[in-house]
Amino acid sequence: MLIDRFNRRINYLRISVTDRCNLRCIYCMPPEGERKLRHKDILRYEELLRIARIAIKLGINKIRLTGGEPLVRKGVQEFIPMLTGLSGLDDVSITTNGVFLKDNLKLLKAAGIKRINVSLDSLKRLNFKLITRFDYFNEVWEGIEKARDMGFYPIKINIVVMKGINDNEVLDFARLAIDQPYHIRFIECMPIGLQTNSTAFVSNSEIKKALVKTLGPLTPLSHGQNDGPAARFRFDGGKGEVGFISAISDSFCRDCNRLRLTADGMILPCLLSNTEVDIKEPLRRGCLDEELIKVFQKAVDLKPPSHPLNLEHDQMVYRKMCSIGG
Ligand code: SAM
Ligand code: SF4
Repeated sequence: MLIDRFNRRINYLRISVTDRCNLRCIYCMPPEGERKLRHKDILRYEELLRIARIAIKLGINKIRLTGGEPLVRKGVQEFIPMLTGLSGLDDVSITTNGVFLKDNLKLLKAAGIKRINVSLDSLKRLNFKLITRFDYFNEVWEGIEKARDMGFYPIKINIVVMKGINDNEVLDFARLAIDQPYHIRFIECMPIGLQTNSTAFVSNSEIKKALVKTLGPLTPLSHGQNDGPAARFRFDGGKGEVGFISAISDSFCRDCNRLRLTADGMILPCLLSNTEVDIKEPLRRGCLDEELIKVFQKAVDLKPPSHPLNLEHDQMVYRKMCSIGG
């Protein structure tokens, strides 16, 4: 079992399968995109499966696929069933921008994936285009509705709220959590990469206040094992729920149970720090499993008690979110 120095049990691995993406969200990537990793520097699927097997041996029972955009990597449709077929995993989920969701839902369902997170920062086509720099709102929305109709649950919709850009849509998002079974997650914009601008920051407490004022009281929901860092609530009579992921205003590290694997083979003990442990080097040297186990243990030992970021210091994480995977 992986237990860190602060007695947190680590049972969750987020795997970024690619650094590439078909969108250019303004808080994540510049218009021209980031410099791409070379093909040979990206972990191959058989390498990802070996790492996943070792992780499972160490008590990881939950894996999330992310990116870049996971659904753009060639061969991911063959990889996903191989991953979900590994014994010892209780839960495999995916975080996607939703552009190719509709076309992949059958495959995801057949592979046993039930939980889907879709990043959607606007419910208006033009604003979606402004934020992502592409006109794919309709594709994403169709994907979400089809996923709902096919019985995926929960479908979490992640919105990064930015002042003057989409903060005027928070009530519309919250209404969705009343009328539909969606789980709306408000995510505070984090100072990662170079695109973020602290003047655009909106705290989740501001958002919560605005929701309660207009839509009525929010009842807290108990913290389930798949909740991660979200504080969850429901409106009276709501079919869905809202959640707040407050990385900056309320450090969410107390219950951190996760490690992250980047597409280029580094394990990150913490999302919001610059420490990395190389797993690709020993893997490609042909090491024994014991050495990979030690890499995992080292990464767990390096987990900090909490992340050091706050808006005043505006301390940056060097890696871009598109190479970490969120
Ligand atoms: N492309 C996929 C997507 O957008 O869902 C997966 C990768 S994306 C990096 C994962 C999550 O990170 C998305 O929900 C995105 O909104 C979030 N994200 C990216 N940059 C962020 C930032 N600076 N602050 C907060 N969240 C961010
Ligand atoms: Fe792509 Fe996701 Fe980053 Fe948007 S947030 S540019 S969809 S990786």
